[in-house]
Amino acid sequence: MSSTKTRVVILGGGFGGAEAAKRLAKSGRGEVEVILLDRHNYLTFYPLLVEAAVGGIEPRHVVVPLRSYARDAFRMGEILNVDLTGKQVRFQASGSTEPTEISFDHLVIGLGSVTRFPNIPGLAENAYELKSVADAIGIRDRAIALMEQANECRDLEKRKQLLTFVIVGGNFTGTELAGELQHFLSELVDGYPNLKKSDIKVIVFEHGKRLLGAMSERASAWALKTLQDRGVEVHLGSSVVEVLPQGVRTETQEWVPAESTFWTAGIQPSPLLKNIAGLPLTERGYIKARADLRVDGYDNVWAVGDAAAVPMPDGKPFAATAQNAVRQGPQVAKNILSSIAGKPLENFEYRSLGAFAVLGGYKAAADLFGLNVNGLIGWLLFRGAYLSKMPTFALKLRLSMDWFLDLFLRAPTVQIGVHRSRIPMPPAAQEPTEIGKGH
Ligand SMILES: Cc1cc2nc3c(=O)[nH]c(=O)nc-3n(C[C@H](O)[C@H](O)[C@H](O)COP(=O)(O)OP(=O)(O)OC[C@H]3O[C@@H](n4cnc5c(N)ncnc54)[C@H](O)[C@@H]3O)c2cc1C
Repeated sequence: MSSTKTRVVILGGGFGGAEAAKRLAKSGRGEVEVILLDRHNYLTFYPLLVEAAVGGIEPRHVVVPLRSYARDAFRMGEILNVDLTGKQVRFQASGSTEPTEISFDHLVIGLGSVTRFPNIPGLAENAYELKSVADAIGIRDRAIALMEQANECRDLEKRKQLLTFVIVGGNFTGTELAGELQHFLSELVDGYPNLKKSDIKVIVFEHGKRLLGAMSERASAWALKTLQDRGVEVHLGSSVVEVLPQGVRTETQEWVPAESTFWTAGIQPSPLLKNIAGLPLTERGYIKARADLRVDGYDNVWAVGDAAAVPMPDGKPFAATAQNAVRQGPQVAKNILSSIAGKPLENFEYRSLGAFAVLGGYKAAADLFGLNVNGLIGWLLFRGAYLSKMPTFALKLRLSMDWFLDLFLRAPTVQIGVHRSRIPMPPAAQEPTEIGKGH
């Protein structure tokens, strides 16, 4: 290594990794060289992704440039593997055809999670996920394309199938998607001469006994009633056993014709983790971490966010939430600096202040400081909270404008059409199909 500084390499510019990079770049200036690696040059602000898909937010306003966290530290490309004992990260920089090795003194793993598709016939091939801005744009474009088709369709059964949207999983993402989608489609339908509101059907299947299982019972009951009042069909204690392009089969063998099925029922850690030799993993594949965020068995390898199983004081792992990841980032940075200085490390401790679920139409459920507030007040609290959490002033302003205009303007019935562009992107490092092969 040419530099005499301690080099900290951070894998993944999500809530955990980006915050760690920001703090290290600021507090560790002079003694630490930070390198932040990600395949995208932005952080996806997931809590607002449903609204970016079918609500009032412009999709570009829910991504935060990673260079706004640590301008000089960021490098874009694909992380291929890590040699923990040799202290090297194998990385394919954007546009390059050959991987390079990046050495580290300390490593922070913040590679996040991916959607978990269990072994349900047809699920992985035919269901859609909501895990990126591209997915958000895709959902919106698809919904509008189906509206156009349905407007042309004379066959009433087929029209019904085109306008039925199935959501499997009724925790935060599924419940929010059901509420926002129903609201969006009901506004949209007025623009189509051959369609009426009753042609649209949004159906939620939730395996558990209530929606929003991670929120209070009052929030769940309110969300259920709000969705049902709007015409959303909610099936609790129920799931699907087969997914086909034309519909889903339920546990009770009922066939539901639907051209769009969304899977919002679970995550798993980044698939790269299981290829990293010597990385201790739990049974479900999460990184075994200690309360001070060091990975079990290592003093220079750290883990944050969804990928890490960080124990709470009662031994259970912290939930995979942005709330936790965004606080683990600065904590890991502090502990790395303490470790370099030979000072004692601090355990990560945080008690969630609450949670929100926004259902569209100026309504949200809010559990805050042990209290539950729903409806318009919940929605105002939600907007205030997320506005304060948006990292840059420019994005705060853009987001405020989106929300303000959404009070007066209807959603435009246009497809953004990005999927049809003939303008090629410069060659980027591709996500390999078999990550880490050969190592
Ligand atoms: C739709 C949705 C809504 C959500 N809503 C909420 C909410 O309201 N409140 C809440 O607290 N949480 C919410 N969450 C959960 C929250 O987003 C996650 O817990 C959080 O993003 C985890 O942060 P992280 O830093 O661990 O990982 P991530 O934010 O997932 O970031 C991981 C990063 O690693 C990069 N990466 C992964 N593999 C590679 C590779 N091989 N090479 C290069 N880069 C790689 C990715 O590009 C990504 O940028 C939501 C999640 C989703 C999907």
